[in-house]
Amino acid sequence: MIIVLKQGVSQQEEDQVRSILREEGCLVREMSTGEETVIGAVGQVSRDLRFFEQLSGVAKVIPVSRPYKLVSREMHPEDTVVQIGDVEIGGPRIVVIAGPCAVENRDQVMTIAHHVKRAGAVLLRGGAFKPRTSPYSFQGLGEEGLKYLAEAREATGLAIVTEVMAPEQVPLVAQYADVLQLGTRNMQNYALLHAVGESGMPVLLKRGMMSTIEELLMSAEYILSHGNRRVMLCERGIRTFETYTRNTLDINAVPVLKELTHLPVVVDPSHATGKWRLVNATSKAAVAAGADGLIIEVHPNPELAMSDGAQSLKPERFAELVNQVRAVAEAIGRKLEPIPSKQQIVMDISTS
Ligand code: PEP
Ligand code: MN
Repeated sequence: MIIVLKQGVSQQEEDQVRSILREEGCLVREMSTGEETVIGAVGQVSRDLRFFEQLSGVAKVIPVSRPYKLVSREMHPEDTVVQIGDVEIGGPRIVVIAGPCAVENRDQVMTIAHHVKRAGAVLLRGGAFKPRTSPYSFQGLGEEGLKYLAEAREATGLAIVTEVMAPEQVPLVAQYADVLQLGTRNMQNYALLHAVGESGMPVLLKRGMMSTIEELLMSAEYILSHGNRRVMLCERGIRTFETYTRNTLDINAVPVLKELTHLPVVVDPSHATGKWRLVNATSKAAVAAGADGLIIEVHPNPELAMSDGAQSLKPERFAELVNQVRAVAEAIGRKLEPIPSKQQIVMDISTS
């Protein structure tokens, strides 16, 4: 439930409300916005809501009807903006994340990082720990791959998004990454949700390939309930009876999520389609539907990619996509241009 306190409530009254909620076994969260003091309380309470309404200092009590609480719009009506360095996800700008499916070697990552940056990407993706369907497929370079990603960040300024597959990997991946990606196969790995929740790091939580929107939100709720609000949700396609595409992009999920939750929504058209030819159209559809960001696989030589080559764009096609997505963004009153970093501003002034 959400408890709105009266204007001019005393500290003693506030403390009393919080202590009663804690005695009831609730998780208490501060949600104050501007003038109002608002308390979010999550948990089963033994008392009737009217009991809380008549407490001294309480203006009103709003029950939260959804099974997920901390992620719900009811609890937090304003959009959450996740800040990663200079980049904001969930604000007016649309964020493009791009890079290879897997980090294959140093050269490949450095080449792609420069390409995607030039084209307009503001974050670099790349898997060092790869969840593969077959145990005989390339499993990723592990820590060596993380080091190459960190080097690419050093060279380009792009922050790193990379997958973490197990709770015990979180400290290692967090040493190198800026955003922890939780893959579709791990959306309901509760020990992992707990671990990334405690890490406090920004998290990109991908929708399970056979999970409902509500299940995705319940997984995000685990992360928030462990104290981490820096969560972005990712629609990456779900399994349907259709086999022409690798998955089916659930475009409905974008406006549905924007309605149900305050968390930013990112779309992955690469895994949603499995075919590079479909990535451009679905990226534009995602932005038109209200996505806050895109995560796209790009490879300098997709035919030779060690994973997901069929859905990876060549750098020049990616650049074309960014230009077209920019036009869609502008048509709906949003922007794609990255905020220039301080370093860039200094360079621009010194070269003008
Ligand atoms: C990936 O991003 O390369 C990946 C494995 O994604 P997903 O978990 O959505 O399949
Ligand atoms: Mn992939």
